[in-house]
Amino acid sequence: MSTISRKNIIIIAALFLAVLFFVTMGDDNGSDVKTKDKRTPALSLQLLKEGNERFVNGEALHPRTDTIRLEQAGSQSQGDHAFATVLGCSDSRVPVERIFDAGIMDIFVIRVAGNVVQGDEAGSIEYGLAHVNTPLLVVLGHTQCGAVTAVTNAIEGHGHALERNIPGLVAPITPAVEKSIKYTGKHGADVIPVAIEQNVWQSIHDLFMVSPSTRELVKSGKVQVVGAIYDVSTGRVEWLKEDKPAEILAEVEADPARAMEAMAGEHTETPAAEGHMDTMKTEHQNDAKEAVHEAEVAAEPAKEEQAEAAAPANIEELKALAEKAAEAAKNAAAAAEAATRAAEEAAKAAGSAQ
Ligand SMILES: [Zn+2]
Repeated sequence: MSTISRKNIIIIAALFLAVLFFVTMGDDNGSDVKTKDKRTPALSLQLLKEGNERFVNGEALHPRTDTIRLEQAGSQSQGDHAFATVLGCSDSRVPVERIFDAGIMDIFVIRVAGNVVQGDEAGSIEYGLAHVNTPLLVVLGHTQCGAVTAVTNAIEGHGHALERNIPGLVAPITPAVEKSIKYTGKHGADVIPVAIEQNVWQSIHDLFMVSPSTRELVKSGKVQVVGAIYDVSTGRVEWLKEDKPAEILAEVEADPARAMEAMAGEHTETPAAEGHMDTMKTEHQNDAKEAVHEAEVAAEPAKEEQAEAAAPANIEELKALAEKAAEAAKNAAAAAEAATRAAEEAAKAAGSAQ
């Protein structure tokens, strides 16, 4: 009899420990958002606000970063846990999970210099919203943003030469800076904070333009989009006007150039809709196109030589033709290289003209 009750006590104790384990596992700061049903835009926003508050106050809990969470990450779907998608800048002073005191499998993060939205960023955001099921998208700018500063300097005529891939990357920031200068009359260091906020709205605008699925998720209330600015010296996130993204959405909904087909492989729309990305880019790309065209024209003789070579009279003739074709191809390659260089120069010129 006494052995049975000892056995019962052991079973009860084991059950108690098991329950305790499962309760504490999901409760490392009481805020793991586990089920899709529980996840709402408002709750997600609240989690980010609370996390940033802890971070600013030096009370970060570093939640959900332990081995139990790793085990969950390896065995469960992130779509059941991650509660926000955040587009932020690559700047080393803006480590997204840290500033929101969030953990593993909490935030679907896209970081790119200047928190711009072009093709890859739009695709990543669509993934975060439609497949990881996050009910919140935060577009997060930050104080002292180098990308916005570089574009402002270029527009104001005291920029410097940029490496070949940078002008295309920061091109979407240009309208934000131009608008900021136009509407405030401010210049230099004074306009940069305005431009940083405007650039957040610009990214949201650019996203809505190219992503019908995001527009639908927002219209249905499943997803909320918010803008915010992170202060690199205080650690504080300033949340921008919450009704502004709805205004931007209404604006985009009235724009005939917006993309219409939500899913890949449905591209039956007019080039105008597809062309929005192109309009976001600057003239230097047209220069590059011209250069490519010139290279193609230069390559024409090579093609003709090849056509002639198709009907050779004898080996000698064939050899001579092959040599001529090789020479023409070489010339075409040189022309193409010169054209590429010309395009680069044009890009640089466009960059400093901005
Ligand atoms: Zn930045």
